[in-house]
Amino acid sequence: MEGGEEMEIVIVGGGICGLATALALHRKGIRSVVLERSEHLRATGGGLGILANGWRALDQLGVGSELRQTALAFHRGQDLSLDTGKQQEITFWYGEARCLRRGDLISTLAESLPAGTLRLGCQVLSIQLDPTTSFPVLHLHNGQIIKAKVLIGCDGAHSVVADFIGLKPPSFFAIRALRGITSYPNGHEFPIEFLRIRGKKGILGMIPIDSKEVYWFLLLNGTSLDSNASKDPKFMQQLALESTEGFPSEMLDMIKNSDHNSLSLTQLRYRAPWDILHGNFRKGAITVAGDAMHLMGPFLGQGGSAGLEDAIVLARCLTKKLNEVNPTSGQQLFVKEIGQAIDSYVKERRMRLAELSFRSYIVGSLFENPIVVKKFVFVVVMKLFFPDPANHTRYDCGSL
Ligand SMILES: Cc1cc2nc3c(=O)[nH]c(=O)nc-3n(C[C@H](O)[C@H](O)[C@H](O)COP(=O)(O)OP(=O)(O)OC[C@H]3O[C@@H](n4cnc5c(N)ncnc54)[C@H](O)[C@@H]3O)c2cc1C
Repeated sequence: MEGGEEMEIVIVGGGICGLATALALHRKGIRSVVLERSEHLRATGGGLGILANGWRALDQLGVGSELRQTALAFHRGQDLSLDTGKQQEITFWYGEARCLRRGDLISTLAESLPAGTLRLGCQVLSIQLDPTTSFPVLHLHNGQIIKAKVLIGCDGAHSVVADFIGLKPPSFFAIRALRGITSYPNGHEFPIEFLRIRGKKGILGMIPIDSKEVYWFLLLNGTSLDSNASKDPKFMQQLALESTEGFPSEMLDMIKNSDHNSLSLTQLRYRAPWDILHGNFRKGAITVAGDAMHLMGPFLGQGGSAGLEDAIVLARCLTKKLNEVNPTSGQQLFVKEIGQAIDSYVKERRMRLAELSFRSYIVGSLFENPIVVKKFVFVVVMKLFFPDPANHTRYDCGSL
């Protein structure tokens, strides 16, 4: 195939996982290019809970200390049922837990990359394999053609790379999530803890980021999501207030005073745990990471951290092979060697991701299902498979 810019490693998607993967490779002395379709760095969703496993990955990326300055650690979680008035402690994590502003995470990762790594305004429309070299060829929305030797799809829920590899599209939960951040210029009085309040129409979760900002989210049953309405902050705020009738006044004030730019409304989707267990995540020297690989509901607060773990493991596997491979070896041999590195990455990640996604699926199904018998079955499955509710946060993805 004639023409086109040639690159070694191309990452599609400049979200958490794409930027983390580029940074992990950079820290191992390997250059890559990140193609992001947006003209600006995207940080949809306001805040992001990062638990101990995620902090271990951020430390490996060399950005943990900087990010710790932006968010307070929380040590406790409380669950309150408005129906029964029952309050209980929740402990689904061990060790460090903080809620980051997504913008802080994205900008810290991006600013740690060497100049020229991130290319904004580059949407990949389609991919094909070069018939002679078997290397991937990317077609961009602006007509540009890029030839990559290694292609990593970190392009989220609607991934063109996952489609190209042949992965099934993700499934839908009958659950919508509304998220936002509220600023308190004179400081808020909420305790620094994770608070979950269960009401008739939905579940409200909230975590202070620091002494002046609080991240909150609302999980609502239902599937109807008008794409225009879901971009309208007034509609989102109204929906949040209607769904939290009867909640304590400080929560209602928090929703009323939320920063309009931070609001987002999403229909939740997931890649089924059994598809993660059996899926083929490689084609030649092409693979996926982050939500493109293992989109899961937000019920464990692990999607972003799992993407950070992917970045470390993938960079470790690729670097090992790239250091061994003879630069003069032919293209076929190169694809074969890189294929082996990707297979090691997939092998190392598969069970970890299947477990996270199964846990998350069960918690989502519990919330989604109104039928008492089904709820009972899901509770039994949860207790049987995951007797320790916080075990997944002990995971260590290892060093780079
Ligand atoms: C309600 C909710 C709450 C959550 N809470 C948490 C939490 O507390 N903790 C946690 O760890 N996780 C949480 N998650 C999950 C977390 O948000 C995701 O797992 C994480 O953002 C995925 O990052 P990513 O980089 O894989 O994908 P994305 O963030 O989706 O990034 C993909 C990027 O690729 C770009 N892109 C897409 N297609 C193309 C293309 N064709 N060409 C070029 N660029 C492209 C997009 O513009 C985007 O920037 C939550 C999710 C939801 C929905």
